[in-house]
Amino acid sequence: MSGPPLSDPELAELLGRESRRRESTLQLLASETPASPAVRAALTSDLGAKYAEGYPGARYHGGCDVVDDVERLAVDRAAELFGAEYVNVQSLSGSAANLAVYAAFAQPGDPVLALRLQHGGHQTHGSRANFSGRWFAPIHYGIRAADERIDYDELRDLALLHRPRIIVAGGAAYSRLIDFAALREIADDAEAILWVDAAHLAGLAAAGVIGSPVPYADVVTLSTHKVLQGPRGGMIVASEAHRAVLQKAVHPFVQGGPAMNSIAAKAVCMRESGTERFAEYAAATVACAQRLGDELATRGLRIVSGGTDLHFAVADVSGLDVTGAEAQRRLDSAGIVVDRTVLPFDPQPVTEGSAIRFGTPCAVLAGLGRDDMVTVAEWIVRALEAEVGSTQHAELRREIRLRLGG
Ligand SMILES: *Cc1c(COP(=O)(O)O)cnc(C)c1O
Repeated sequence: MSGPPLSDPELAELLGRESRRRESTLQLLASETPASPAVRAALTSDLGAKYAEGYPGARYHGGCDVVDDVERLAVDRAAELFGAEYVNVQSLSGSAANLAVYAAFAQPGDPVLALRLQHGGHQTHGSRANFSGRWFAPIHYGIRAADERIDYDELRDLALLHRPRIIVAGGAAYSRLIDFAALREIADDAEAILWVDAAHLAGLAAAGVIGSPVPYADVVTLSTHKVLQGPRGGMIVASEAHRAVLQKAVHPFVQGGPAMNSIAAKAVCMRESGTERFAEYAAATVACAQRLGDELATRGLRIVSGGTDLHFAVADVSGLDVTGAEAQRRLDSAGIVVDRTVLPFDPQPVTEGSAIRFGTPCAVLAGLGRDDMVTVAEWIVRALEAEVGSTQHAELRREIRLRLGG
């Protein structure tokens, strides 16, 4: 996985180290996939140099006739893939797409109702550390302690009580299907905009592995680099009625010139995401996450909500007497890369947490299948039971490297 030759030896050395790290360790991250070769080719194309502020047919710069067609192609392909009336492909990241949604539908100080961060939400859904929590008035719904699923009764009560401008669904660590139809009804009753942040869900929805939020939501945002194998970037999908406000929100309110090389790469990604190969890969990520969750559960880790419907799950590691942060360090030392996270009702401080979030897209792309998840679960438990830097970890690293052919 090496790129074009670099005349900068210092950086070349670092890139080499990163390639070796990737090839010799197991990536169990929920939000990462290596971009496909065609996406990488688009990213390094001449389009990266082109300034194209504005939209196709209405730019502030000359010489945009080719990039106009590139952007139209990306938009048309995304509209077809998601069955959407309106698409904006310019957002530089998922978070930038989210900022544009706030800009389009809310004024500073307006109430916005979203899933609590600790229950699986996202920083951009009203966290105090983020613009969304500082400039708007977030109200949070949560999951039920009993089954760790969204409490739609609480959600409805909060929506009717606070009359938020926007109701947000989707998150970074909620692994269950979301009842988009129920949310549509609540949003209608509360006269709120329904926004689904599909950063994690978009790839699975495109593949038909889970139901799409697009027919239900006023607006859907997504990242093109999580299950989707596209460039690092964001996208907005909405109904035609919201075209004008969203166009202005992305540019000029949030951004200047778009990254045209990235838009070209998004066009490639939209094409690749409609293929049979992509559908098989997406289905495999879910099958592997479910199997790995089951295998870990039989070995003393509790899976939040008892399982997953998506490509990732959250596992409680407190049963093995480690915190989430220590679990991440031990797994890292053994050559397994995961994210630490918190449980919905975690007794540990946020910086430690009691859980890890594992995801399967990279593992599937590395050639692992559902049955391999038994071995992966064994690796994880062995890694968690040994100290950072131990000989057990060195042995595991070797085993994993050999299995991955790195
Ligand atoms: C990843 C993610 C985002 C956006 O991430 P970027 O890094 O800005 O692309 C937004 N919302 C959710 C729920 C996410 O998981």
